[in-house]
Amino acid sequence: MIKVENIVKQFNDLKAVNDVSLDIKKGEIVCLIGPSGSGKSTVLRCINGLEKPESGHIYVNDQLLDEKDPETYKKLRSLMGFVFQHFNLFPNMTVLENLTLAPIQVMKKSKDEAEQIACQYLERVGLLDKKDEYPNKLSGGQKQRVAIARSLCMNPQIMLFDEPTSALDPEMVIEVLEVMQELANEGMTMVVVTHEMGFARTVADRVIFLEDGKIVEENTAEEFFRNPKTQRAQDFLNKVM
Ligand code: ATP
Ligand code: MG
Repeated sequence: MIKVENIVKQFNDLKAVNDVSLDIKKGEIVCLIGPSGSGKSTVLRCINGLEKPESGHIYVNDQLLDEKDPETYKKLRSLMGFVFQHFNLFPNMTVLENLTLAPIQVMKKSKDEAEQIACQYLERVGLLDKKDEYPNKLSGGQKQRVAIARSLCMNPQIMLFDEPTSALDPEMVIEVLEVMQELANEGMTMVVVTHEMGFARTVADRVIFLEDGKIVEENTAEEFFRNPKTQRAQDFLNKVM
């Protein structure tokens, strides 16, 4: 579904992503882990076109992302939902308005239809009763669940998550991870940057460990956590677990 071939993304002299290749199949849950600054966010941002790698290729559903053809980026973005660490909800809009804005403006849905779909997803993340609230009335965990529901309203084929729980108080982490786990169970293709090793271990099919912009180790979640092969991954796991 997503194929990344030898991408390099440089910021001045720094190779933030240095020759990374990935292959993510439909329905797969892949966790990207690694120390701060290892290039995890940059890889995700390249996948959804927020950053353009200097070299290498990215294919989504076998279609090459072509820098010279902005249409390919537009098309690709429409397939992906992206959930960030900070929820980026529009503060001056209600929860429902946050969810219906893009479906109405981008997908040209009627207000009624957009609201109906929005309510369906709010129900799924357990927040239908908050539909008329403004974001500042919600807890961090609730905001993040709204952000996930908002992405789902665009009917994505792939969900990308960049540390969706790292700005949350511990008691709110679980409610967000549960929503993500449900999505995974329903067969959503997901790429998740996370420091939640418990989540990676139980939910991921595959774990990719990055350091200094390179993939150091890649394995099934089970193998990776049971028996990390590289010293670097072992050291990392000893530190974070
Ligand atoms: P973290 O766990 O802290 O989020 P990360 O693995 O997501 O880290 P990236 O954000 O991808 O790491 O950053 C990789 C490297 O690229 C870092 O050294 C970072 O400082 C650098 N970098 C990222 N974005 C930019 C940018 N826009 N301009 C300059 N340097 C950048
Ligand atoms: Mg990051």
